[in-house]
Amino acid sequence: MSFLFVAGSLFLFNTIELSVAGQGSTPKIKEIVLGRCYEYQLNTIGPKADNWKDCNEIWEAFHKAFAHKKPCEPKSSDYKPFFEATGMQELSKSLFWSGTYKVAHVYSDSGDRYTTLEDTLAGYLVNGLTWCGKKTDPPSSDGIDYDSCPDRSVCDYTTPFWGLASETFARHARGIARVLLNGSRVDSNGKPTPYRRDSFFAKYELPNLQVDKVSELMIIVAHTRSIPTGCDTDSIGMLKKDAKKRNIKKVTCYDDPNDVRHILCTDTPLSRKCLFLHSDPSMYPRLR
Ligand code: NAD
Repeated sequence: MSFLFVAGSLFLFNTIELSVAGQGSTPKIKEIVLGRCYEYQLNTIGPKADNWKDCNEIWEAFHKAFAHKKPCEPKSSDYKPFFEATGMQELSKSLFWSGTYKVAHVYSDSGDRYTTLEDTLAGYLVNGLTWCGKKTDPPSSDGIDYDSCPDRSVCDYTTPFWGLASETFARHARGIARVLLNGSRVDSNGKPTPYRRDSFFAKYELPNLQVDKVSELMIIVAHTRSIPTGCDTDSIGMLKKDAKKRNIKKVTCYDDPNDVRHILCTDTPLSRKCLFLHSDPSMYPRLR
């Protein structure tokens, strides 16, 4: 296995941290959310469309869910008005991901090829931000704690939002639902675990796919191994079982399909693993 390919792949698989322990809410979060809200609509429906969502109303719904509350207090139902305000359309090209944050978003091409949760208005507005509330007497100016948010050992204050976001996203998937999994992910015993039952995908997305409206679950396993074996692992077997239990009509699995391999290889086109891109490998004699 080429070092270059591994290094490049780690970069592409890079995950997103929902929050950093001890870090407070993102400064200027209101301005960022409002700015993203205008930018998103400018790019998706254009400045003259008459169906623009009210960004102030969206911010108010979001803010009200957690501000002036203790950081561990908000429940997923508190975020419901935010998802009502952002709305979501039916998604004919949904792309779920788990352990593949970066490559999934190159693959989705900001919603042009496929749609990830982060390509919808609701996900886009707050993706990568940290927020938690602060309850003080008298109330502080905006009720947001910019100094610190709880460590995960205290409470998982991000799941009420992201759990409902995942659920809402899954409910809107139609036709073929794709999930891009990390075939290089292993558990503490070194066993491949592209699918984890404690992931958001397993807990909030798979259970909320509308089986009468989703014709297929297409599992795509991307990995760094020379011999692709992701689809044959016990972990993917478990996913197939879980999908069957949900009565999903058709489940398919693809190891490193060429379109994904091309993306993984953009940074390391000369690595051994990526020589499939060249019809004449003798062009690269040093690598043989
Ligand atoms: P993943 O394992 O790559 O995790 C994604 C993020 O969620 C990471 O920051 C991880 O630390 C955190 N996370 C995972 N499991 C958790 C748990 N049980 N409790 C608390 N935090 C947890 O992939 P995943 O868990 O399957 O989540 C990705 C899927 O869920 C995607 O399909 C996406 O639609 C949605 N999602 C997106 C975000 C985001 O920040 N954009 C966050 C959560 C879920």
